[in-house]
Amino acid sequence: MKYEIEDREGKHCLECGTSITYGRQDKKFCCSKCRNDYYNRRSHDHRIIEQRINAALNRNYSILKKLLDDGVTSATLSDLSEWGFRPESITGHGKVGRHDQYRCYEIRYFQSVNKIFGITFSPIRNTAPCSLTREREQ
Ligand SMILES: [Zn+2]
Repeated sequence: MKYEIEDREGKHCLECGTSITYGRQDKKFCCSKCRNDYYNRRSHDHRIIEQRINAALNRNYSILKKLLDDGVTSATLSDLSEWGFRPESITGHGKVGRHDQYRCYEIRYFQSVNKIFGITFSPIRNTAPCSLTREREQ
């Protein structure tokens, strides 16, 4: 490892902001405590974001499932919004003709400017990881 003693003006610890004046050129933290605190916080923040995304997807799924259970295949975005539905939380998107079709786990639906429609239960056919990639739908 290469250690240098030189002027490192402008390099600061990512955690506490202390000026870093020694150590490896790519040193990011003034001490191991700062490094641990920084990565622990980032990991914690990541888990919170993940929980929020999962909660939104689960809420959307519950709303869509309830609609299907009640025999309802369309709903206005304003009603959905009141129920806590978040249109941006999806597990898939594709084009079917001119229509945008979205998926929330195994429920599919189309969305226009003010409503969703054509809500259908549609089991996921393959076991590939579900993602936000475009799906090939017929
Ligand atoms: Zn520090």
